[in-house]
Amino acid sequence: MAKRDYYEVLGVDKNVTPEELKKAYRKLALQYHPDRNPGDKEAEEKFKEAAEAYDVLSNPDKKARYDQFGMAGMDGTYGQGGMDMNDIFSQFGSIFGDLFGGGFRTGFSGFGGGPTRRVLRGSNLRIKVKLTLEEIDRGCEKKIKVSKYVPCKTCGGTGAKDNKLETCPHCHGSGVITEVKRTILGQMQTQSACPHCGGEGRIVKDKCHDCHGDGIVKSDEIITINIPAGVQDGMQLAMSGQGNAAPRGGIAGDLIVLIEEIPSETFERQDANLYYNAFITFSEAALGASVEIPTLNGKVKIKIDPGTPSGRVVRLRGKGLPIMNGYGRGDLLVSLNVWIPKNLTKEEKEMLEKLKSHPNFQPTPTKQERGFFDKMKEMFN
Ligand SMILES: [Zn+2]
Ligand SMILES: [Zn+2]
Repeated sequence: MAKRDYYEVLGVDKNVTPEELKKAYRKLALQYHPDRNPGDKEAEEKFKEAAEAYDVLSNPDKKARYDQFGMAGMDGTYGQGGMDMNDIFSQFGSIFGDLFGGGFRTGFSGFGGGPTRRVLRGSNLRIKVKLTLEEIDRGCEKKIKVSKYVPCKTCGGTGAKDNKLETCPHCHGSGVITEVKRTILGQMQTQSACPHCGGEGRIVKDKCHDCHGDGIVKSDEIITINIPAGVQDGMQLAMSGQGNAAPRGGIAGDLIVLIEEIPSETFERQDANLYYNAFITFSEAALGASVEIPTLNGKVKIKIDPGTPSGRVVRLRGKGLPIMNGYGRGDLLVSLNVWIPKNLTKEEKEMLEKLKSHPNFQPTPTKQERGFFDKMKEMFN
């Protein structure tokens, strides 16, 4: 069904004032209100049509778009069925409310959007877990003591002395009170949370003396947390239902585990890669050698080629951290730095003086060695 022009729907022209617009809409909304036209599909369509027109024309941005582009400018704003009933009541409920002495609430019977029984939820609990790189590498199990609300054992979490919650006699368990009011326009239904049970639909007759009717008590609990391999500093893991218990058998909150990484003395980390600064002697760099490099899983030996320049990076594939939610592992990048001695003796200085003028000791870098970016590429590929 093609949509009617919004101005036509509300019976106003383009120069309508906000007051006139509101008045025009209110008149239609009351005429086609579902409570006054129960089961009338056509009235419901008219009610929705008026709400949609009012929603557009009362909003300067939407109105400008509509004035310029017409219905085409509204594409995708509203579905084929127009505005949702609950949206209409939550957005424009106050407009009807003015007339009914505030009797209208956002909730509305018959469209499934009215108040429903309140289910209590426990609060989330947050804890911090400190981990070493070794623990992150393997994943680990942590047992942590937390003080949290748990269901009261005496009353089985009901809060009632006799372990039993009774159906609220005022709302018959629905948690909602429905009132029918007579107004000048006929009977209007209003719904609100039942004040006798707080909307829970059930009541405690005799309170449990251990939890004072709440059904929960504070307790120190040991919680076992399984930390997956590869987590990072600042990450949050949510353990559903492991937070504080809810009063009277509601839904427990979550336990939020904040990961804190203890900085390593040995490695630096970037995502799944690890970086290690190794120092070798001038002789090892010039003559070649085999040196030991630490990893998170013990030492490994790497071969140093004769004539290795200072700053060369060796990539040890798969020796980094596991990639979380992925496959494989990162790498360990080892930077080989030639150690330049500081406090030299007189004899050592004499030895080096002799080498200084030797032709083999004169710097003759290749183009690649000279190129800064080439070197960087070599380091990280
Ligand atoms: Zn209790
Ligand atoms: Zn009640």
